[in-house]
Amino acid sequence: MTDAKAIVRLRHALDAVPAYKPGKPAAARDGVTTYKISSNENPYPPLPSVLAVVEKAAAQMNRYPDMAVTDLTQALANHLGVPVERIATGTGSVGVLGQIIQATCDPGDEVIYAWRSFEAYPIVVALAGATSVQVPLDEHARHDLDAMAAAVTDRTRVILVCTPNNPTGPVVHQAELDAFLDKVPEHVLVVIDEAYLEFVRDGQAPDAIATYEERHNVAVLRTFSKAYGLAGLRVGYAVAHEPVAQALRKTAVPFGVSTIAQQAAIASLAAWDELAERVDALVAERERVVAALRHQGWPVPDTEANFVWLPLGADTEAFAKAADGAGLVVRPFPGEGARCTIAETEANDRLLEVARSFLAARTF
Ligand SMILES: *Cc1c(COP(=O)(O)O)cnc(C)c1O
Repeated sequence: MTDAKAIVRLRHALDAVPAYKPGKPAAARDGVTTYKISSNENPYPPLPSVLAVVEKAAAQMNRYPDMAVTDLTQALANHLGVPVERIATGTGSVGVLGQIIQATCDPGDEVIYAWRSFEAYPIVVALAGATSVQVPLDEHARHDLDAMAAAVTDRTRVILVCTPNNPTGPVVHQAELDAFLDKVPEHVLVVIDEAYLEFVRDGQAPDAIATYEERHNVAVLRTFSKAYGLAGLRVGYAVAHEPVAQALRKTAVPFGVSTIAQQAAIASLAAWDELAERVDALVAERERVVAALRHQGWPVPDTEANFVWLPLGADTEAFAKAADGAGLVVRPFPGEGARCTIAETEANDRLLEVARSFLAARTF
């Protein structure tokens, strides 16, 4: 075998791309139900009405999907009250985010985002040959929007605002977002990533659609992967002004969103009332878990998403190992903390038990 690496020239930008670590599946164990609480998936199985639509759509898999995603775009426009021209769909909101960076950044241009935040951000930025400017979260694991505004240079093209922030949980508030946007130059695109919007109950959280309507340089990113439970089908979207929305349609993978995904998303919008009951139940579980963890003594930051953040620092990997021993796969960020998805009640109970005994054995 020859060393392909020595012959084929790959882009230097790839050297800067961190490898994405997917949540590993929970290992099967005798007599113990294992739970993967590492990927913020929705624990509920698909709704029967959505599954029926998917089965029907599967019968057309010899055909390409509607490249313009016409029906889903129209359904979203009705749902959100925005014109169809201002909606761009893609293969999950990570796919749409990749399109956003491709559409805005030349090599060396800068993308500002909070850190720690979503692991996909450094990857999509590096893939475009752009430069990540990571601004540390504040002591409450919240975005430091003042520091983010101060980080703007003449190379800045995009600022990502993740609210609620993955993996820590807090939202930004409307008033601080407005003050921040007042400081950002109008040619810099601000993307509000609302992957967990449906789990938010904080009354001060932003109305991102109203914010985008007021400002030409704001786009909103949303997904069907979390609250809608369609993570496996890869469909997300952006709401943005022309010409940004048009640029996103240009950078889309042709036929990227399958007919199955398009149909499932339409059916899920129609079934929102039923899905909302499940989201409410997950939010109630979140409140229960957060209260119990704080009662145990954990300094858990506020979370408006479907996960909780345990700021474990140097003990992160030991905690992940302890959780694994109890049949729970969490998402460790070594040296920082562990993100744990709110899942089935039994998984949540087990998380509380692992956290309790870990804390009892730990010397701070
Ligand atoms: C899960 C998540 C997404 C959505 O990813 P998809 O590609 O739509 O599955 C986007 N942003 C954040 C912050 C997320 O956590």
